[in-house]
Amino acid sequence: MRTDIGQIVHLADYRPTDFVLERVDLTFELDPTETKVEARLIFHRRDGVDASAPLVLDGDELNMTGLLLDQDEIPAGLFDASADQLVIRDLPAAVPFEITITTIINPTANTKLMGLYRTGGIYCTQCEAEGFRRITYFPDRPDVLAPYTVNIIAEKAPNPLLLSNGNFLGGAGYGEGKHFAAWFDPHPKPSYLFALVAGDLGMVEDTFVTMSGREVALKIYVEHGKEPRVAYAMDALKRSMKWDEEKFGREYDLDIFMIVAVSDFNMGAMENKGLNVFNDKYVLADPETATDADYANIEAIIAHEYFHNWTGNRITCRDWFQLCLKEGLTVYRDHEFSADQRSRAVKRIAEVRHLKSEQFPEDAGPLAHPVRPTKFREINNFYTTTVYEKGSEVTRMIATLLGADLFKAGMDLYFDRHDGDASTVEDFVKCFEDASGRDLKQFSLWYDQAGTPLVTVSGHYDAAASTFTLQLEQMIPATPGQSTKEPMHIPLRMALILDNGSEASPSAVSGGELTGDVLHLTERKQTVTFSGISSRPVLSLNRGFSAPINLHFDQSSADLAHIARHDSDWFARWQALTDLALPNLMQAARDIQLGKAVACDPVLIATLLEIVADDSLEPAFRAQALALPGEADIARELGANNDPDAIHAGRKAIMAEIARAGQQTFVTLYDSMQTPGAFSPDAASAGKRALRNSALAYLSYAEETPARAATAFAAANNMTDLSQALALLAQRFPDAPESQAALSTFETRFSDNALVIDKWFSIQALIPGETALARVKTLMHSPHFISTNPNRVRSLVGAFAFSNTTGFNRADGAAYQFLAEQILDIDKRNPQLAARILTAMRSWRSLEPVRADHARAALLTIERGAGLSGDVSDIVERMLKG
Ligand SMILES: [Zn+2]
Repeated sequence: MRTDIGQIVHLADYRPTDFVLERVDLTFELDPTETKVEARLIFHRRDGVDASAPLVLDGDELNMTGLLLDQDEIPAGLFDASADQLVIRDLPAAVPFEITITTIINPTANTKLMGLYRTGGIYCTQCEAEGFRRITYFPDRPDVLAPYTVNIIAEKAPNPLLLSNGNFLGGAGYGEGKHFAAWFDPHPKPSYLFALVAGDLGMVEDTFVTMSGREVALKIYVEHGKEPRVAYAMDALKRSMKWDEEKFGREYDLDIFMIVAVSDFNMGAMENKGLNVFNDKYVLADPETATDADYANIEAIIAHEYFHNWTGNRITCRDWFQLCLKEGLTVYRDHEFSADQRSRAVKRIAEVRHLKSEQFPEDAGPLAHPVRPTKFREINNFYTTTVYEKGSEVTRMIATLLGADLFKAGMDLYFDRHDGDASTVEDFVKCFEDASGRDLKQFSLWYDQAGTPLVTVSGHYDAAASTFTLQLEQMIPATPGQSTKEPMHIPLRMALILDNGSEASPSAVSGGELTGDVLHLTERKQTVTFSGISSRPVLSLNRGFSAPINLHFDQSSADLAHIARHDSDWFARWQALTDLALPNLMQAARDIQLGKAVACDPVLIATLLEIVADDSLEPAFRAQALALPGEADIARELGANNDPDAIHAGRKAIMAEIARAGQQTFVTLYDSMQTPGAFSPDAASAGKRALRNSALAYLSYAEETPARAATAFAAANNMTDLSQALALLAQRFPDAPESQAALSTFETRFSDNALVIDKWFSIQALIPGETALARVKTLMHSPHFISTNPNRVRSLVGAFAFSNTTGFNRADGAAYQFLAEQILDIDKRNPQLAARILTAMRSWRSLEPVRADHARAALLTIERGAGLSGDVSDIVERMLKG
């Protein structure tokens, strides 16, 4: 394990390599514990580079057994090899030369799951961000692009499949019991997109004909026996390929596209050129074992990785600081894809919920960093919601500022201008400036300034002058390393809604630019006046969540209810309901802390019940309306000094009041939102199930008995209904015999399905309250618990730390110490996974003082741990310092 403290890398220090890599030839002789890798690399010295400059290659835990220059051994005095670096001196000044490096690696011992490793008898690679250097010494950085030829030699019986990137060149027998296969990827790529898979897997195949008429073979590889669960992923892949042609004009560029699903994987999936490797959680689905959310995730992630072929692979990143260039943009593309496949408004609501519950806390805590960071110590720790989700929001804002046509022109220019490049954020933004003629200099601050902007707004209607005046002020909070901020260009979609629900059209606007329905906030303080407004309007601002900001606008309950009922923008209707609900939930938490009775605003109850009973609105939207802001949202709004127990109890009390007031509505919904017949994962059916299960949850508060949930559990014919009923039983009535029986039935029925057993762990990890910690500890001794499987660890330890707000934040701090022990243990095997789970404590500073002290003590326990990895020490130090 690498235990040294990594160097801090700065964006400002970027410079190109001294040597240009022309091509890569790799030969793997696979062996479970002694795989031999021969890398033949052809370089030439870059123009202008000093003739004495050495070649410096990256490594990580490498063991080199051979080193040749143009097939001759390099004398000992001319190179230095350590486990993490190879330096070669005295290389030719003017002509290309070939370096041949032989290394021996042990895929079985590789529990970090970076580089080449073995999982379930399969050889598999993960090279992003810096895994390739665990295979051979290499200029392991994204701006070094070359075509790759890969030869794989292995025992034939256990490894009938030998896969790598690009097109298949051929294969044959190779000595006794062995065979080989050769692959060539003509598209120059950086090493992080390299992939190799070997082993014995089942396969499902199909074809796709591209817009220019080329037939592409599509192959999805899974463990034998799991082939019947691949159909939805294959369908999603074909829809993604079609959509990218229609929406972005992008066609696939190899003869074959392969996906391999493995069960031990640190992330969701990886977009290796032509050979995506997936966590099988995002490939496998059937009605009996996958929920509607699983289906939606599979669709989105299959699309995301496929879309990377253009945004990430054909155009890659110059350096890891530009990660948002591929990730933010590709998340934006997969969000748009899902919006086109499903309900756009419902999709947007789900995105914003996720952004606010995951990215906003990151942006407000010690781990805050810009969408494009300027320094890092461990790049693995920057695969964050800020880079991905806020990065996507920044792309969305460009589309909002420019409008659909100019945005498309900018994207086309980007593809034309930078195909084959390793690019920067500046390159990307410049394409939109050139295509639109609009200056995006101020807008680009979104890439560089961390922190969620706070926009404070007040409005005033002058009846005599028929004007509506808005005063806006923006403030970007200080974040680690950035104490002062410049005002940003914030695009705010808006409407002035009149009494009858129609939208006012101002005759003139002064004090700010309004293009279409987009108000451009560019100053720190701005006063904007709309003329020709005949009666007092209700302002609907930041419609569609056009900017990822916190908005403070003291609107009356009546105005919010007006928006919730009348806005033509469904997102704005949902947002208004949320804004109605939040003050009630916050007040409820305060009242619980003070020992006072909780009361809910009748306007909220009336508006909510009216909307959920409105059959003209799609069920999925109504389900979103019923899902009140979560405990993390309430904690975020309360800011400092929050008490998770009070937040939890307050939220329950508000739900109970709504449930009692709407009991009849919920009974009607529960009965009417059935989806008879065979299960279909389509969006409309999923929406009905979501609304029905929301009604069931509220009824558990109105009826205060597990009976209805137990009946639902027994009757469920799909995993969505079954797992929701089980979660309701376990989390609302943990001690009821019905709940214990259901957990046991579920475990027995699905004991051989790892992905479903993950759900069984998560549901129990989220049972709230003091008993949660003991339960999690007991579950760690369950025969199903596998400490080396990242999905399993996330489903129990991760779910508990991230989402069980009362159980994890128990006042005595015992759960923080438990997490500290777990992090130290996981870190020994899999530092990336340990670092990721540790970020569950990112908001520790906003806890009330007693809990915050316990949290700090746990972080110090981790910091003092022996042999801490660079991944974990980076996170823990930033959390303690920031
Ligand atoms: Zn991605």
